[in-house]
Amino acid sequence: MILAVSKLKNPSSPAGGYRGRFAPSPTGPLHAGSLVAALGSWLDARKNGGKWLLRIEDLDTPRCIPEVTQQIQSQLLACGLSWDEEVIHQSQHHEAYLKALERLNGLECLYSCTCSRQMIANTLASLGIDTPRNQEMVYPGTCRPASLMSNGVETVKSLQKAWRMALPQNCLIEFEDLALGPQSQNLNTEVGDFVLRRSDGLFTYQLAVVVDDAEQGITHIVRGQDLLSNTARQIYLQGLLGYERPKYLHLPLVLDEHGEKLSKQTLATQINTQDQKHSLLELRKAAKHLGLKNLPDGENVTIAEWLLAATHAWRS
Ligand code: GLU
Ligand code: ZN
Repeated sequence: MILAVSKLKNPSSPAGGYRGRFAPSPTGPLHAGSLVAALGSWLDARKNGGKWLLRIEDLDTPRCIPEVTQQIQSQLLACGLSWDEEVIHQSQHHEAYLKALERLNGLECLYSCTCSRQMIANTLASLGIDTPRNQEMVYPGTCRPASLMSNGVETVKSLQKAWRMALPQNCLIEFEDLALGPQSQNLNTEVGDFVLRRSDGLFTYQLAVVVDDAEQGITHIVRGQDLLSNTARQIYLQGLLGYERPKYLHLPLVLDEHGEKLSKQTLATQINTQDQKHSLLELRKAAKHLGLKNLPDGENVTIAEWLLAATHAWRS
């Protein structure tokens, strides 16, 4: 009996061990902020003797720049951040997302919506709710039917309508962030019924990331804090789809001189990886941001030596 128990897998270390990932959208080359996420997730995977996968999140095709995918990979390699396994491209996973959408449809929790952003804004304004700039609008449920049912599979595939997730009442999601501690979000009041497939046919980040993280067996999600407010939605979808919940660790954001998050939209400058010396400089800046201390600071340190020291210093 005791023997049998000792053979059971430790639930906190799944069969295949730690699997982490870095999931950039190829809308621009890596900047100081995305390097922090890449380095943090890489170090966490290496420290835990795990795998680190690269997934290109090229779903929002109008915003993606094909050459950038290659550029991001070259930048990562120049910094010594190599990945295990084949690179995955979300643009090639539509079938998987559609299957997940159909499964959710079978759970009678989807409805179609034809509201434009302007219509939603107007409805919210008429209800006396104003949404601060830069914040997402909480969908007021305009198109939500009184009783939900499963829509025909063909209907779910049809375009011209967005498909939203009908949230149950009091949908409070709680989770533990490995860096930030206990987190909670009320999806009803803070998010509202969110979109899984847009009217132009594109699957949303929320659905795709959940499907891919599960398909790739990701156990640890280490990413920037700008994505923290998406986590509850993702956990909720994981539950419905019967996926395991990964562990989460959200990293401090890099802000520009105006206190805004560095992003491709604000035209953040790309990191300079023209040679070893510059790449190491970028890595050192990222490590400083991550709060890593006592790393070798000599001129002649190689990237490999530096990364090894950083791995030892990571969250110890
Ligand atoms: N593709 C997302 C981004 O570039 C990151 C997704 C994630 O790490 O969950 O912001
Ligand atoms: Zn609507």
